[in-house]
Amino acid sequence: MANEKDLNKQRFDREAAASLVKELRTTFASGKTKSYEWRVAQLKGIARMVYEKENELVEVLHKDLSKPETESHVTEISMVKTACKHALKDLKKWMKPEKVNGSILTFPSSSEIVSEPLGVTLVIAPWNYPFLLAIDPVIGAIAAGNCVVLKPSEISPATSSFFMEFLKEYVDRSAIRVVEGAVDETSALLEQKWDKIFYTGNGKVGRIIMAAAAKHLTPVVLELGGKSPLVVDANINLQVAARRIVAGKWGSNNGQTCVSPDYIITTKTFAATLIDALKNTLEQFFGKDPLQSKDMSRIVNSNHFARLTRLLDEDNVSSKIIHGGERDEKRLYISPTILLDAPEDSQIMNEEIFGPLLPIVTVDKVEDSFDVINSRSKPLAAYIFTNDKRLEGEFVRTVSAGGILINDTIIHLANANLPFGGVGESGTGSYHGKFSFEAFSHKKAVLHRGFGGDAPMRYPPYTPAKQRLLKALLEGSIYGIILALIGWPRA
Ligand code: NAD
Repeated sequence: MANEKDLNKQRFDREAAASLVKELRTTFASGKTKSYEWRVAQLKGIARMVYEKENELVEVLHKDLSKPETESHVTEISMVKTACKHALKDLKKWMKPEKVNGSILTFPSSSEIVSEPLGVTLVIAPWNYPFLLAIDPVIGAIAAGNCVVLKPSEISPATSSFFMEFLKEYVDRSAIRVVEGAVDETSALLEQKWDKIFYTGNGKVGRIIMAAAAKHLTPVVLELGGKSPLVVDANINLQVAARRIVAGKWGSNNGQTCVSPDYIITTKTFAATLIDALKNTLEQFFGKDPLQSKDMSRIVNSNHFARLTRLLDEDNVSSKIIHGGERDEKRLYISPTILLDAPEDSQIMNEEIFGPLLPIVTVDKVEDSFDVINSRSKPLAAYIFTNDKRLEGEFVRTVSAGGILINDTIIHLANANLPFGGVGESGTGSYHGKFSFEAFSHKKAVLHRGFGGDAPMRYPPYTPAKQRLLKALLEGSIYGIILALIGWPRA
């Protein structure tokens, strides 16, 4: 007898997608996903899965990306545990209707904002943090009381199979499902009507998602990427800065991270000092032959390896390599590579790098870096290392980015009290913590009235006296209200 996975692989076409959505709509209509207890049971199930299958997770992440075990724990497994804990701790608070003030026009009444689930939702995940970026939005969808279909990335097949095999053991299968597959399966899913689509990946596919969603007026969250700049001022603790830059670039999935520093901007006079510090730190972290280091993820597959080597091999770019550049095509590694002043019109300076290459752009004054950043699309993250409070303030004021982090890299996304998401080309919508709950909720406006306090002035016939009183009330003019009530001036 064929198992669920085989069936899924064999015939996940438009009909299969339609019937899946229909089934989940029936579940949603039953109302069971709306209860606090159901949500808690699912979130606890996911948390249990993470604890019980921790070793399997480390294994699949290693299979997909040669992810070092420590990295898997820090940037995927523990982040998911924290997301579950946070949701379980605060869910009651999030679900509670929020009382808000009324207005003169609605007096007497009470008003509240009620968060309601959207319905049947779709999460489409990428390969780079294949566990975290798939299950984290699912946690938000469940916390908000939705049914959800997860489509993991086919480029990280081991993690995708993990979801297919294990998730159903821990959650309610009538409301939470996994569909494996690539473009065909995702396209079949996208033809259906969803109540929210949450997509993480590149902007090209983001456009396909948004176009498909538009057909059904389905709202979307698009978690995209882009070229995240990192500005380095001269007056800093260089040793700490270099460690944080190297950790955020090569020590975080080897640059295959949406908020990875994509390029550095520093001054012409400081560049050499910075480069020395980066080289020393790289050697401390990954040894003299980084291609052999066990503490670095590999490039995900040969297509991405070819894409990255194309960036390096472009005319006028390869001569700009000042560190690294070695390759091991068989094992899918490129050593940490630094380039200095690659041509502005080169691909490496225009495409998101998403790998172990780090170009450095030099400017005359550090303030000039703001123009370099603002002349490009809005990035997902923007970083600055400086001790100058004025420069820091100017950076926050003038640079538009999904998020800004001062004197470190990447870790802003570990604070679930901050929304995580892009702006412009780097995405739309946000999540993490309460923002995940909100991403999958509709904020329903509810106003309660009794039958008392029925003011005749709002009803026809509209006499001049009623008009004067209404006008005064709307303008909030006590003086006008008194005059209208005493009938002055007389009509
Ligand atoms: P990917 O290739 O895994 O694609 C993402 C998802 O889109 C997959 O599930 C895939 O099956 C689906 N997909 C691919 N082509 C499709 C098509 N034609 N139609 C429908 N669905 C399709 O991942 P990727 O895009 O290579 O991921 C890397 C990009 O994602 C980078 O740009 C990175 O910055 C961005 N990213 C953003 C975040 C974030 O949180 N903002 C996180 C991770 C990655």
